[in-house]
Amino acid sequence: MTDLAKSFRSSLDQTAIIEIPEIEHDHLSSDGTRKWLLDMGTKNGIETVFIPEESRGTLCISSQVGCALECTFCSTGRQGFNRNLTSAEIIGQLWLANHKLREQDNYKSLKKDEKVITNVVMMGMGEPLANYKHVVHALEMMLDDNIYGLSRRKVTLSTSGLVPAIDKLRLDCPVSLAISLHAPNNEIRDEIVPINKKYPLDELMKSCIRYIEKAPRDFITFEYVMLENVNDSVEQAKQLLDLIKDVPSKVNLIPFNPFPNSGYSCSKRTAIKLFQDILMDAGIVATIRKTRGDDIDAACGQLVGLVRDKTKRSIRLRSI
Ligand code: SAH
Ligand code: SF4
Repeated sequence: MTDLAKSFRSSLDQTAIIEIPEIEHDHLSSDGTRKWLLDMGTKNGIETVFIPEESRGTLCISSQVGCALECTFCSTGRQGFNRNLTSAEIIGQLWLANHKLREQDNYKSLKKDEKVITNVVMMGMGEPLANYKHVVHALEMMLDDNIYGLSRRKVTLSTSGLVPAIDKLRLDCPVSLAISLHAPNNEIRDEIVPINKKYPLDELMKSCIRYIEKAPRDFITFEYVMLENVNDSVEQAKQLLDLIKDVPSKVNLIPFNPFPNSGYSCSKRTAIKLFQDILMDAGIVATIRKTRGDDIDAACGQLVGLVRDKTKRSIRLRSI
């Protein structure tokens, strides 16, 4: 870039590198979903998934190598935690996916100003709010008109509920927010989303109400994984209604995606439908998430990557 001052170029030479993530595997599913396993060094890997739909293309991005939070139904959580990704490694996933997709036959003829990736969700491996600084820096690059120029409405961060960080995000970079709720009461949530013991449901609901003030959408999305005989009864659907009654929200029911030795089964189709009907009858918009890319293990909670866990279980939670 000869249009930059020589002194600036030489200081860049000393302080910066241009490096793209290295691809370990690149899988294309029969439904068009594409998943990359990216090498993060020291035999670790993370996964990035592109999900095409008729009117949009969504990229699901990872924020950490593994996750320290140990939700019992999540294969990433079972892998343990290795390290946080840097903001370069986070935005690098968007850069790489964008370039690779533009080489794909069905997108080759797109004009330069037409986007393949229209939406980003921080729903890959890791808890984004446990890697706050790097995640927010990467979000800012996604939103910046001179970089990716996505609107706040089209960038969604999903969190298991780190309340102080939700409050901070509301002020620093309020993108669309999804909360991994998964349970209608503290008793069940303590069990399946252990961070609930630190930030219980009443605190979490209050932080959602505060977030709405600044959120780019006028609702919060609650994600609710459907686990047979754990959280899927009629009684629990009614409890859920009561829990979220003060929060403008939509509920996204996620059929549990199985993985080896999970110890859980997905709720029956009829139970999921009944659960949805109870929410809808009470006026809550409730959708059932379509499973995409399951033939290449790219569905929610199936992202395993390659995680060499370097922390002891006992110190993982303390570090958050
Ligand atoms: N750590 C963040 C984001 C990554 S997980 C979070 O927990 O929100 C993305 C979503 O997939 C979360 O809602 C998570 O609870 C859900 N999920 C995890 N394991 C799953 C599984 N086996 N089946 C279906 N959804 C799962
Ligand atoms: Fe971590 Fe989210 Fe999986 Fe929980 S559901 S273990 S927070 S990645």
